[in-house]
Amino acid sequence: MRYVLIGNSAGGIAAIEAIRECDKKGEITVISDEPRIFVRGKPHINYSRPLISYLLGEKVTLDKMPYRGEDFYKDNRVELILNRKATKLNLKKKEVVLAGDRKLPFDKLLIAAGGMPVIPEIKGLNSGGVFTFTRLADARNIKNYIRTNKVKEAVVVGGGLIGLKATEALMELKIKVVIVELADRVLSATFDKKASSIIENALGRKGCELITNNTVVEIKGKNKRAEGVILKDGKKISASLVIVAVGVRPNIELVKNTPIKTNKGILVDAFLQTNIKDIYAAGDCCEAEDLLLEMKRPIAIWPAAVRQGKIAGFNMAGARKEYPGSFAMNSVELCGIPTISVGETYPEGKGYQVLECFDQKNSVYKKIVLKNNKVVGAIFVSDIERAGIYTGLIKDKVDAASFKEHLLKEDFGLISLPKEYRKHLVAGEVAVI
Ligand SMILES: Cc1cc2nc3c(=O)[nH]c(=O)nc-3n(C[C@H](O)[C@H](O)[C@H](O)COP(=O)(O)OP(=O)(O)OC[C@H]3O[C@@H](n4cnc5c(N)ncnc54)[C@H](O)[C@@H]3O)c2cc1C
Repeated sequence: MRYVLIGNSAGGIAAIEAIRECDKKGEITVISDEPRIFVRGKPHINYSRPLISYLLGEKVTLDKMPYRGEDFYKDNRVELILNRKATKLNLKKKEVVLAGDRKLPFDKLLIAAGGMPVIPEIKGLNSGGVFTFTRLADARNIKNYIRTNKVKEAVVVGGGLIGLKATEALMELKIKVVIVELADRVLSATFDKKASSIIENALGRKGCELITNNTVVEIKGKNKRAEGVILKDGKKISASLVIVAVGVRPNIELVKNTPIKTNKGILVDAFLQTNIKDIYAAGDCCEAEDLLLEMKRPIAIWPAAVRQGKIAGFNMAGARKEYPGSFAMNSVELCGIPTISVGETYPEGKGYQVLECFDQKNSVYKKIVLKNNKVVGAIFVSDIERAGIYTGLIKDKVDAASFKEHLLKEDFGLISLPKEYRKHLVAGEVAVI
């Protein structure tokens, strides 16, 4: 059996582990267009993508980035093809074509090609000093650019999770940052106004300027160095570094012009198989089941990619396992403030009930969203201690009618839950996301 995996990150690596659990003999080949990185002569073959902002901000060093060692590939007898792009799929011949025209035959193929940064239409994107921020190479290139150009001022286009993580890193390097955000607040995809305001105030206290309801229309630069940006309203901001972080979309490049079906991402069934037999997809590039919305959509978070990679790997190796679905959940610390947002966080329409507690002075915010007495979403800022219980209620779709008044009380805990559900928790029957 020849397994070919495109992508050597959360989804791809989880698939290797699952395949080897079931098939000790088959050949596994992993392709990635990202290179090996050498730290003091030692090769590093993968890295934890969510850590790239900490690398840029010098909170972690390069040697702490990998999450599986070189031995992992040797032990699992994986042939690695790194720094090489898969450019084409030949479905009739069951082959992956690589840059340089090498052809790799497969019996089972996994596409775990991740996401791609969205590039907005901005004049002068090629000015120099303009970067996206999704890869380890981006963090290293930005760092080199900052050093060579002695950057003191930067503009970050986009106030979503990646934009804020980049901002934090730049502020660690004592760079003055202006965030330009099209929406009326930061983190608008997952946070409501109250939650966003806590982070915005914290950013302000750290010296970051935030411009909302606006966008960058032009980047000015000279001699491969940015000099500033022009906003939609004509305002000019001086900056020698511009980071474009307006979003990430599923990477479906490879399956364009093939019969593999896509929507925003690659479409898969409950076994993570595409509409073409023996071709699977997992992680940020695909659309799998959203448990809460009961529809397929991309959920671009690390744990979902790992779980999908695992399930895809099992199915590729012949152990039939169904993907139970997942839901959007972000757990992230911003400006030293821990936050969690899960599911539907600012519901629109009928049938919702919202419970809230907002302590602006102490930057604490808790919000629970219920629909038909079931918890379907939550936001926690600063106090995230019991968030695990609420996410459990969400994924198990527990009827909270009998205890919902207690959900936001100080003493709310496992003991507040119905006895039957507690028994179910102890028995470990809870679906894992
Ligand atoms: C800055 C940042 C911070 C983040 N923070 C968090 C966080 O706090 N929590 C969280 O849950 N998630 C976070 N994420 C999201 C998380 O990193 C992704 O959900 C996860 O990495 C997805 O894994 P994946 O395996 O699907 O794809 P990826 O990690 O994107 O990996 C895909 C791999 O496939 C390779 N590839 C793509 N196309 C080809 C090709 N044609 N040929 C060869 N190789 C190819 C790519 O180079 C890449 O190495 C963050 C992401 C970023 C960028």
